[in-house]
Amino acid sequence: MRKKIVAGNWKMNTDFKGGLKLASEVMNMVNDEVMDDIQVVLIPPFTHLFGIGQLIKGNKKVSLGAQNCAAHISGAYTGEVSAEMIRSVGADYVIVGHSERRHLFKEDNSVVEEKVKLALSYSLIPIFCCGESLDERNNGRHFQIINSQLEEALFELEKDELLKVVIAYEPVWAIGTGKTASPYQAQEMHHFIRTTIKEKYGEDLANTIPILYGGSCNAKNAKELFANADVDGGLIGGASLKSRDFTDIVKSF
Ligand code: PEP
Repeated sequence: MRKKIVAGNWKMNTDFKGGLKLASEVMNMVNDEVMDDIQVVLIPPFTHLFGIGQLIKGNKKVSLGAQNCAAHISGAYTGEVSAEMIRSVGADYVIVGHSERRHLFKEDNSVVEEKVKLALSYSLIPIFCCGESLDERNNGRHFQIINSQLEEALFELEKDELLKVVIAYEPVWAIGTGKTASPYQAQEMHHFIRTTIKEKYGEDLANTIPILYGGSCNAKNAKELFANADVDGGLIGGASLKSRDFTDIVKSF
């Protein structure tokens, strides 16, 4: 059985007080309403990590993640936050290669690869994001794009390293747009990702690795997305900012 995961990427939203309130509402609802086999990950801004880490300490259903990490171990990188720092405040997960990082901050596959390796070396679970643009899909290049993102940023890893990674398929045209991939499109790409991993690393690993869907997933469409054989949960942006909506998504398996 693969792990089911629903992660909430808050992006650059909420102040510290608002973040603590949101985290505590989600934690209470998850404690009361969600089965033990689903892992919930809260991914607030960096400034909230320590406080929310303290709030959820010891909670088995709710974990903490960061939205990004530096591609360097330490040193003169003003404004950057290292994987080691993130780990030291109690986070277990870190998003790498989110499309907003790739596009707005020009992070390419080699930078993403560096971040994945650093995350793993500090015992963080990378949530590795991949996804095609609308142009790439319209030109029929979506499988090729995902394949090269996997090849160039993940496939240098050893089997025992890749085993610790979570993949999130996030079509860029669906992120924050209100346009969701259809259940068919999501399943088709998740199956492609799993098959690509199988060809390189074998069936056991391919069947173990969780693949999440992200892109305008909400409490209304989550059920039909999560019902697909290769969809193991979601990476949720906008809808993770409302505790009721987010918890309803978590309950959509
Ligand atoms: C995201 O940013 O990872 C995301 C999926 O955003 P949204 O749910 O708002 O489309």
